[in-house]
Amino acid sequence: MVQLAHALRATDGLLIVDVQPDFCPGGSLPIPRGDEVVPVVNAWIERFLDAGIPIYASRDWHPPHHLSFREQGGPWPAHCVQDTPGAAMHPGLNLPASAFLITKGCRLDMDQYSAFDETGAGSHMRARRITRIWVAGLALDVCVKATVLQARKLGFDAIVITDGCRPVSAEGGRRALEEMLAAGTVTA
Ligand SMILES: [Zn+2]
Repeated sequence: MVQLAHALRATDGLLIVDVQPDFCPGGSLPIPRGDEVVPVVNAWIERFLDAGIPIYASRDWHPPHHLSFREQGGPWPAHCVQDTPGAAMHPGLNLPASAFLITKGCRLDMDQYSAFDETGAGSHMRARRITRIWVAGLALDVCVKATVLQARKLGFDAIVITDGCRPVSAEGGRRALEEMLAAGTVTA
């Protein structure tokens, strides 16, 4: 029996951020050891499914030549281009059919690091009476951080599943955790 530092509640939700092949080794924007989150996240998916708690999964889903790409003057190499294998959900992820898919990064005029950034996820979760979200995924210091900080701003309690996340850089990961903790997030 796994001892959880925080017991699951009926008003919880699980949010898996951008676990996609392009963010894993071999992808076009690989996060070091990004693929190692897959078995960890799968174990959490089972726990949440057993408890009947909703599961959300976000995906970065860019149009070709997105403004976040270097070719367009953005900060990142081209990644997660719509309908390419690198933009699919990671094939090892055991996402249930009941999971809610959040698509972000598809706007032509701005990037969306946070899964709550004009995606409708916040109001959807509120309608389902979710008050606290558990977050895991990629990358800890980019989209996970943005998602968690926006969740806090929207009034959700947030728990970061640290071993279910990987940062772009170790230093960035440390700073991201500090920022999230300062915003009232806790870790599991
Ligand atoms: Zn992106």
